[in-house]
Amino acid sequence: MSTSDDRGLREAKFWRKEGERLECLLCPHHCRIALNKMGICGVRQNRNGRLYSLIYGQVSAMHVDPMEKKPLFHFHPGRPVLSLGSIGCNLRCLHCQNFSISQAKFGSAHLNPLRPEDVPQLAREGGCRDVAFTYNEPTIWHEFAYDAFRQCKERSISTVYVTNGFMETEPLRELAPYLSAANIDVKSFREDFYRQTCKGRLGPVLEATELAHKLGVHVELTYLIIPTRNDKEEEVQDFCRWVADKLSPKVPVHFTRFHPDYMMTDLPGTPMATMEMAMRVGRREGLNFIYLGNVSSAEGENTRCPKCGSLAIRRSGYRVEITGLRDGNCSKCGEPLNIVG
Ligand code: SF4
Repeated sequence: MSTSDDRGLREAKFWRKEGERLECLLCPHHCRIALNKMGICGVRQNRNGRLYSLIYGQVSAMHVDPMEKKPLFHFHPGRPVLSLGSIGCNLRCLHCQNFSISQAKFGSAHLNPLRPEDVPQLAREGGCRDVAFTYNEPTIWHEFAYDAFRQCKERSISTVYVTNGFMETEPLRELAPYLSAANIDVKSFREDFYRQTCKGRLGPVLEATELAHKLGVHVELTYLIIPTRNDKEEEVQDFCRWVADKLSPKVPVHFTRFHPDYMMTDLPGTPMATMEMAMRVGRREGLNFIYLGNVSSAEGENTRCPKCGSLAIRRSGYRVEITGLRDGNCSKCGEPLNIVG
């Protein structure tokens, strides 16, 4: 007999039988799930020997946000984006800023149903030409994201993931033709941080990020700087070198300021001096577009041409003014600025 909790039930993709259990292949945890049990994300269940997603089309939050809030600064700047999320996450970050939905228990959260074919229309009704899956981790919403994003592409709506990047490569390859842009969190550049603070691993995040970039998804990165945890100059330098070497110096990097939250309330906010250190290191390593988030900084949000220095986009909060841009290039010297739209 079905219950109200079965509304979002959909057979999952990316799993195989492993003896008495099912192994989920959607993210690098590869949970081996016993009968009637769920994986670490809490939204994929072994029912009668088959793996199911419990949250297909189940929406916990929906808003129209500025694209800059994702944050995406080089993708459709200044446009509103219909932003949707469900519940659950495959990581357990102690400092999660969205824990009320990322760690919500299935069955106790209020979820509204949505059909994939209705997503493009909802976007248009909200005055948007872009849809973002955000608020909780979209990787674990793969079946719905794939169906909804295909519908979006058919109707010329662009699509965005705001993700921790802890995903397997095969689902990413399946989704990439329908995914326009992603902001990927690199939470630290040390494996022990990922293990201790997030219950995840850094390696697969880097692998997925490099693959998304290679497959043509517009990628921007967020690195939240947490005092004493991931704020050493050497670590920031390793991160910036990886961006320059394995992605491109033109990939935008957002260093954002930590504020105490969830289970990490014993640390102070990130000092401005640390934010400025990150900016300095990024420039030294050759990154072209470095931004500071959650701080008030005159220059930390603006886009300048890395070649001639002229101002291409001025930002103040979520106010965006295009001042020197032509077809994604600097209007003064013609330098490509890796800006879509
Ligand atoms: S998606 Fe969920 S069930 Fe699947 S491996 Fe990751 S955490 Fe486990």
